[in-house]
Amino acid sequence: MGEYKETGVLTLEDIVKPSADRVEKGPVVVIECIEKIPCDPCVAACFKEAISMDEITDIPNVDFEGCIGCGVCVTECPGLAIFIIDCTSDPCTVTVPYEYLPVPEKGDIVNALDREGKIVQESEVVRIRSSGKTYGVTISVDKKNIWDVRGVEVKA
Ligand code: SF4
Ligand code: SF4
Repeated sequence: MGEYKETGVLTLEDIVKPSADRVEKGPVVVIECIEKIPCDPCVAACFKEAISMDEITDIPNVDFEGCIGCGVCVTECPGLAIFIIDCTSDPCTVTVPYEYLPVPEKGDIVNALDREGKIVQESEVVRIRSSGKTYGVTISVDKKNIWDVRGVEVKA
């Protein structure tokens, strides 16, 4: 824990994950925001009140049981730190925030990237959500990779 301060890359030990049981129940948010910065759009974005903070500099606290995995918060986070994992389908899906060009389209085959930007697998784009300049790109991901895939790269 804390190696990210040297590497700039979070590891699974740095974040609060939903339990395996919760993941099996349906889509759920994963928030990879661990710095105490003055920021809270995620709190207002969640109409289920599943994200909370006592102070604006707190790390977001997530009620995984209250979250329905709708994905609204993904495109509202200026830190691009919110993801949705969904294993109700086979393969699973991961929704990642995306602000590059070109924007992928539904049906495209893209590279699914890990937190370091390395290719984990090829994925199909199954849904695109937009909110201003930020897109939420939902891609198919093998179950074994749902904790690694956190980015999308459009193939050249
Ligand atoms: S995915 Fe939807 S329900 Fe879950 S925390 Fe985000 S906005 Fe709330
Ligand atoms: S909006 Fe994003 S960066 Fe800001 S506190 Fe929430 S998760 Fe962190």
